[in-house]
Amino acid sequence: MDKSLTQRLYYDDSYTVDFSAQIVERFTIENRPAVVLNQTYFYPTGGGQPNDLGKINDVAVVDVFTRDGDSAVVHVLEDEIETDAVTGHVDWARRFDYMQHHTGQHILTQAFVQAANANTVSFHLSNDSVTIDLGVASIAPDRVNAAEDLANQTIYENRPITARLIDPNDTEGVRMRRMPGHLVTDGLRVIDIENFDLTACGGTHVAHTGEIGIIKIIKLEKRGDKTRVEFRCGGRALRDYREKNSTVNKLIADLTCAPAEVNQAVTRLQDDFKQAQRALKAATHQLLDFESERLVRAAEEKDGVRIIKVVFSGRDAGELRLLANRLIETPGVIALLGTAGDKAHLVLARSANLTQDMNVLLKNVLPHLGDARGGGQPSLAQGGGVKADTTQVQSALDEAERVLST
Ligand SMILES: [Zn+2]
Repeated sequence: MDKSLTQRLYYDDSYTVDFSAQIVERFTIENRPAVVLNQTYFYPTGGGQPNDLGKINDVAVVDVFTRDGDSAVVHVLEDEIETDAVTGHVDWARRFDYMQHHTGQHILTQAFVQAANANTVSFHLSNDSVTIDLGVASIAPDRVNAAEDLANQTIYENRPITARLIDPNDTEGVRMRRMPGHLVTDGLRVIDIENFDLTACGGTHVAHTGEIGIIKIIKLEKRGDKTRVEFRCGGRALRDYREKNSTVNKLIADLTCAPAEVNQAVTRLQDDFKQAQRALKAATHQLLDFESERLVRAAEEKDGVRIIKVVFSGRDAGELRLLANRLIETPGVIALLGTAGDKAHLVLARSANLTQDMNVLLKNVLPHLGDARGGGQPSLAQGGGVKADTTQVQSALDEAERVLST
C-alpha cells in the first residue's frame, strides 16, 4: 500500500478552509506554475466530485488533481509563488455546496435501495447538475416519492456522519462502486451515516445530515436500461424553488388561474390557437378566391391571353403562390406576381391550355432582383429570397411581359 506524498487534511476535517503548509515541489503544467504541498485542505478532482478552488498566498488556485504514480496532490496556480512557507484558503461556498450534494448523494442512493430496490451505478456532480444513474430501466412514481421522502426524513433526523478507515479485506456491509486500485490512506476510507448508510468514499461530507437542508429530485430520464435521477440539495434546491416559484407566479398572473390549473389553462390556450389558425386559413382562402376573381375580370384579353401583372409589398411567398394557382385555373391566364421586401419573391404561372415556359422566363428576369435563386415547372416557376424594392420587382415583371410579347 502506497502512502501519498501529500497529507490530505480534508479527510479528517471538511470544515477548515484556512491553513499553513510548505511547498515541497514546484513545476510547470501547460504554461502554468504548479506546486505540491506537504499537507493540504484542497480537494483534488475524484470520485465524481470536482476539485476545490481558492487561493495559496493570494494566488488563485485554478485546478487541483491527484498525480498518477505517487498520488501527490497537485495545485495548479495562476501565478508563481516565491516563498516555500505558504497559507492556503479554500473557497468555502463551493466546498460546502459540494459537501451538501456529495452527502446528499449517499443518502439518496441508500433511500432508492430501501424504497425502490434500485442500485446506484454512477454519480455525477458539477456546478450545473447533479445526477445519479440507477441500474433499472424504469421506476414507479410512488417509489420515487418514497425514496425522496425517506431521504428528507433522514435529513430531519440530523444523523451524525463520520469518516473512518477500515481493513480493505473486510468490507462486508460497505457500499462501494469498486475497490480503489490504489489506496492513498492506511485503510479503506468509509463514510458512516449513523444507522443508515456505510459507503467507501474519498470525498468531502457534512458532519450532520441536517446541514443538507433538503434533497429534491427534479427530473427522471430513461437512458437505455438505466434511469438518470437529477436532484438538488441545500442552497441550490432553494434557488431552484425560488426560480420555479417566480415562473409559476408569473404564469398564474398571465393566465389568471390557480397554480394547480396552469396545465389546463395552457391546454386551453393551445386549443384556442389551433382553432384560430384554422379559421384564419379558411378566411385567407376565401379572400384569395375573391381577389383572383377580381384580377381575372379586370385583366384585358388579347388574342385569347390575359396577362395579370401585380406588384405587392411584404406579402407572404406562400400566399403569392396560392393566388397564382387560383388565377391560372381560368384558361388563357398568365400570372406575373411579385412582392417586394426583405425577402422579395416572384411567381410566374400560366394556365394549362397555354405553352409558354415559365421556368425559362423566370431565369430571364430573376437578375433584376440581384442574387436571387429560383426554378420550377414550365407551368409555374418561382424565386427570390433576397431584399428588393418595388421598383426592382416591377422592372422584373415588366421584363417578363416584354419577353412574352416578342
Ligand atoms: Zn462521498
